[in-house]
Amino acid sequence: MAIKVTVWNEDSLAETAEAVRKVHPEGLNGTLAGIFRGNEGFEVRTACLADADAGLSDEMLEDTDVLIWWGHCKHHLVPDEAVTRVQRQVLRGMGLIVLHSGHESKIMQRLLGTQCSLRWHEMNERERLFVVEPAHPIMKGVPPYFELEGEEMYGERFDIPAPDALLAIGWYETGEVFRSACCFNRGYGKLFYFQPGHETLRSYYNENVRKIILNAAAWAARDRSMDRPLHSEFAEPLEAKRG
Ligand code: ZN
Repeated sequence: MAIKVTVWNEDSLAETAEAVRKVHPEGLNGTLAGIFRGNEGFEVRTACLADADAGLSDEMLEDTDVLIWWGHCKHHLVPDEAVTRVQRQVLRGMGLIVLHSGHESKIMQRLLGTQCSLRWHEMNERERLFVVEPAHPIMKGVPPYFELEGEEMYGERFDIPAPDALLAIGWYETGEVFRSACCFNRGYGKLFYFQPGHETLRSYYNENVRKIILNAAAWAARDRSMDRPLHSEFAEPLEAKRG
């Protein structure tokens, strides 16, 4: 069965700035959904903050195997109840991929329990990404390192708990380094944070970035057979009591 992907963005196409549209004519949602379109292993749809229930209704989330999150300026406008709905689904097994400036989204902070802040500057500099776990399914088919012509610099310290798996380290022309690809397990769900993707730059057209996002969706996808309660149920003792 195809993996159901929902790409969520804080901006609708109408709200998308002209400078972003120059790079992403269909908005970031359009470009990101395009990574999955034409791949029969995936079924993709898009949602945004302006939609009913902030684009994050229970019904939609229940029908989503992986949620892809792109946000930047409107983190504070995402209703707490919507964050709680997403959190609940992740704990029950829905995959979540948080991209770029989504690092300070409420959902990332909620799931990781830290500020998720970082150092940054915007100088449109070259970034080299080194794959440090080439055997991980997300890095399948990705070369030992690859370069992005221009990115916004995200630098350490990145205020996250130690990832369950660190897959790539980014290095920038200005000498900074960053934990660019991080995996976390929360409840039955998997969370993948991936740094590239400043909105006016072209990282989402890079073939390795696209491959990583595609692989990450397959890795994080909800396993419907795991749809059981998170808590342990009361049980009779396994062995009969002696005496
Ligand atoms: Zn950015």
